[in-house]
Amino acid sequence: MANLIQLNNVYKTYTLGQTTQTVLHDISLTIDAGEFVAIVGPSGNGKSTLLNLLTGIDHPCQGEITVSGSHLHRLNEEQLSKWRGANVGIVFQFFQLLPSLSLLQNVLLPMDFFSKLPKRERLERARHLLDLVGLSDQWQQLPSQLSGGQQQRAAIARALANDPQLIVADEPTGNLDAATADDVFALFLRLNQQGKTLVMVTHNDELAASASRKIVIRSGRIHEDQPTSVSKNAGQSH
Ligand code: ADP
Ligand code: MG
Repeated sequence: MANLIQLNNVYKTYTLGQTTQTVLHDISLTIDAGEFVAIVGPSGNGKSTLLNLLTGIDHPCQGEITVSGSHLHRLNEEQLSKWRGANVGIVFQFFQLLPSLSLLQNVLLPMDFFSKLPKRERLERARHLLDLVGLSDQWQQLPSQLSGGQQQRAAIARALANDPQLIVADEPTGNLDAATADDVFALFLRLNQQGKTLVMVTHNDELAASASRKIVIRSGRIHEDQPTSVSKNAGQSH
């Protein structure tokens, strides 16, 4: 399958006052279109930093990052922001829906930012996406009127707004109870089965084992990178 993400010898260093901390050391990594990659590892070891580089939220200090054919390390902020809106859906631990907007308006925002579709079609698409995540009756509600699981499903609908090939999620079930986490994870699995590439940081070993590949990050390095048994079993059945 086609190579969607490529990192070559990537370093990330933060400087705070007099101290310099290298958070990612010489990361080289390839992720193919259609993979479901779980990223695990202890807190403070560079997982979110790695995701922020993949989405162009942050810049590498050294090395090359190519995602969906774009060389992110060569783009400026404005180019990155355009690229991100068109090519990546991002899901956060604390949902980050805009509190004063209805679910429908939250899902419309990324489409309005791009206006690739006429307004009428954007509305239809937003309703369709909320339907897809099981929130067809809640489209007029504000995020605060919903449960955590429902808010996260709305955030996933928003991430799908511009139909990105890549969905990146940073501990998306970290703030949910176990049953709700399972529901949200099942939705990610379904999206992967429908062809989306997923890169997800999680602390939940059980969920990580359901992805197709597990990457362990320790002290800013790739400590382990292996297909899970799910992926091996899938391979055998072909
Ligand atoms: P994880 O997601 O694995 O918990 P992070 O990638 O958030 O880890 O953080 C890795 C390290 O980088 C931590 O020590 C954190 O304090 C530091 N760090 C993260 N973001 C910044 C930043 N913007 N400025 C300075 N240090 C940061
Ligand atoms: Mg983190």
